[in-house]
Amino acid sequence: MIEFKVLKESKKSKARLGALKTKHGGVETPCLVPVATQGVVKTLTNKEVKEAKTQILIANTFHLHLRPTEEIIKKSGGIHKFMNCNMPIMTDSGGFQVFSFGFGRDFGVGKKLKGKSLNQIKEKSQPKSLKITDEGVYFKSLIDGRKLFLGPKESIKIQESLGADIIFAFDECTPPLATKEYIASSLKKTHRWAEICLKEKKSRQAIFGIIQGSKFKDLRQKSAKFIASLGFDGWAVGGDLGESKKTTASILNWTLPFLDKTKPRHLLGIGKLDDIENIIKCGVDFFDCTVPTHYGRRGIAYTESGVLNLNQSKFLKDKNPLDKKCSCWVCGEYRRNYISHLIKAKEITGLRLVSFHNLYFFNSFIEKIREKIRNGKL
Ligand SMILES: [Zn+2]
Repeated sequence: MIEFKVLKESKKSKARLGALKTKHGGVETPCLVPVATQGVVKTLTNKEVKEAKTQILIANTFHLHLRPTEEIIKKSGGIHKFMNCNMPIMTDSGGFQVFSFGFGRDFGVGKKLKGKSLNQIKEKSQPKSLKITDEGVYFKSLIDGRKLFLGPKESIKIQESLGADIIFAFDECTPPLATKEYIASSLKKTHRWAEICLKEKKSRQAIFGIIQGSKFKDLRQKSAKFIASLGFDGWAVGGDLGESKKTTASILNWTLPFLDKTKPRHLLGIGKLDDIENIIKCGVDFFDCTVPTHYGRRGIAYTESGVLNLNQSKFLKDKNPLDKKCSCWVCGEYRRNYISHLIKAKEITGLRLVSFHNLYFFNSFIEKIREKIRNGKL
């Protein structure tokens, strides 16, 4: 069970301040939901993740089902106990893996197109390595090659065993290269699966419904109306969010007005630093993304004055902290020269230090946005 309260709605934009209450603590929104795919935010302990001002995490149903399996996690007392994490946790349904291990892999694309040509995926096309049917999706295990089936019922059963505070309906996260016909036919599946998920869920976990429809206004609105008509505890906007910030904002502006505004809204899988203010201004409460730690592990540090690539040799002579204005312990204790050396030497500690700083930086950045909304400046 969750409780969500909108504390303030901005007069300058559609941004809002909210408070989420769960059995595992509260969350101030809008906020970033760092990704703990395998039950861990890569390179960091849960204690560190919390120290970096994280309030809530999202783990991945598909990956945890493969390894260590939901039975192991359930027998360990659920995902909070298993991870030794006293923060609220979400699990995503596995719908994103339908895309990332399917067409995403076939065409080498992420959720944004980045200049690749459109309409390559026609209605009834299938990805090379999995099969999408009306009932669900046949996968091959990445670990031992065994065949797996994940549909709405299976996803809910797994998510109930994992025991997160918030779970998501199973959907097809659609590829950006698909035709409108493909998206329309996929949407029918996602909608039917949403109904099955609601019927199947017996636990007291909160469940969010997912709106799809790619960059097509009529399909997005159709999806928002349909998902809004079902009894979900919150909403998520998923799938392809268009090529530009403008399209992402349009998709949010098409869909969010149809949703019960007393319930939380989650934008799935987006959150580059320069996207954040934009999506918050559209009225998003939660967004999950891997950016802080993904780039951290590649030696890219975020700072008030821009991004630093610590792989560059010039930083070996730089005695400044990663960010002079940052109050995280990494910036208090270490200098760019040493961190750059660790990154170049591929030392795990280097990856950890930059990941921690980046996560702290992102969470502080969003904390300032909350402050701006509170003071009527955004
Ligand atoms: Zn720092």
